[in-house]
Amino acid sequence: MLNRQSSIENPHWETRPREECGIFAVYGHGEAAKLTYFGLYALQHRGQESAGIVVSDGQRVVEHKAMGLVPDIFKEEVLDRLRGHMALGHVRYSTTGSSLLVNAQPFRIRHAGKTLAIAHNGNLVNARQIRAGLENQGSIFQTTSDSEVVLHLAAKAMRKGLEEAMVQAMGQVKGAYSMVIMTEDSLIALRDPHGFRPLCLGRLNSGYVITSETCALDLVEATYIREVEPGEILIINREGIKSIRPEDPSRKAQCIFELIYFARPDSNVFGQNVYLFRKRQGELLSEAFPVEADLVMPFPDSGNYAAIGYAQASGLPLEMGVIRNHYVGRTFIQPSQGMRDFGVKVKLNPVKEVLKDRRVLVIEDSIIRGTTARTRIKTLRKVGAREIHMLVSCPPHRFPCYYGIDFSTRGELIAAQKTVEEICDFIGLNSLGYLGIDKLVQATDIPRESLCLACFDGKYPIPIDASFHKLCLEAQ
Ligand code: SF4
Repeated sequence: MLNRQSSIENPHWETRPREECGIFAVYGHGEAAKLTYFGLYALQHRGQESAGIVVSDGQRVVEHKAMGLVPDIFKEEVLDRLRGHMALGHVRYSTTGSSLLVNAQPFRIRHAGKTLAIAHNGNLVNARQIRAGLENQGSIFQTTSDSEVVLHLAAKAMRKGLEEAMVQAMGQVKGAYSMVIMTEDSLIALRDPHGFRPLCLGRLNSGYVITSETCALDLVEATYIREVEPGEILIINREGIKSIRPEDPSRKAQCIFELIYFARPDSNVFGQNVYLFRKRQGELLSEAFPVEADLVMPFPDSGNYAAIGYAQASGLPLEMGVIRNHYVGRTFIQPSQGMRDFGVKVKLNPVKEVLKDRRVLVIEDSIIRGTTARTRIKTLRKVGAREIHMLVSCPPHRFPCYYGIDFSTRGELIAAQKTVEEICDFIGLNSLGYLGIDKLVQATDIPRESLCLACFDGKYPIPIDASFHKLCLEAQ
């Protein structure tokens, strides 16, 4: 924990780490498209650039996808057109491939009279090499997304049967992938052998649901059965449900950042309740950093649950020192240079009467570039907060992610460039502390060796070659 007072100048705009993608699929329900619409609504936090639903009645496959948010894309008349007992839906934020409608998922191709559609969450680290090889053999790609290579690999092997095609596709791709593939009559869920991204299976009457997070099961009143296991292929069709595990189990590398930031707090991912994990982070922060303050507060919603944990463990009062405007959309007109603070306050407005002359402890879930935190702290100073301390419920982010989370490049990660003391100065805090990596792991119910912690410790579970690193830089 560092104590420091400094001036603040030149606030910048910063994006928070971006959500990646969300998947929701239904098998065996007469209103599969409508259920998928609700499922995607529950997963909207995982991607806000585009959304799509593909349905099948066993013979005919129909799709609708567009840029934008789920409620804007799927109107009643659109859903009425999407008839069938199977549906596959996706919400997207691009991590590779540009933000264009052509890259919106699910992707669908026709091959040898058969339809294959795919919805993917994650990043394939060898997609570029596979794509180059396929293009040399004459394959024509419709998109710039890494997910399309899986369809091509599966299509090439389809003459050996669906099961073998999936096994062959899985055997060739490397990286983070939780995905669902749909044919006219089957749903296939695949999760990479490390299990980076979540994917779970639920039951709905006599049918099945596959989704990224359990909050979507809750919404459609499906019953959670289990996670799709790392390295598992699940095939669901008229014959029932079949599990295949073509490869020996690898070291699990479940993304800790799903728990810290991405997943909804009402979800269980990797068998762990997200709300309770975040609250525990706050309790552990309180043990490590007993800050002398008059109140503890989050910037909603990012630090909410860790702030609750800190307040309960420390006895400090929890206050909502800033109020979030829930009606601000994803984008709004950027103010001119002289009106920068308007842009911050349109989303979060400090409550002067709560903060003036008080010693404030802010709990945050992460600091990526530091510019958002700096701008926010400036607004607290303006309303007269006497001292501002900050605790972050994870360690400093020093390394980029290659497995589907859009952090900045290493050069833009403030903790890769500055010491904690310098970050404290840059943001304009009286003190700053981070939860240590051991405590972070302690906040989970998951063994350390089953987690990916690479953005904190640089130990990448799948080696990254230089060409993929370059691809990621180009995509950002
Ligand atoms: Fe998650 Fe970080 Fe690993 Fe990426 S590097 S998968 S964000 S833990």
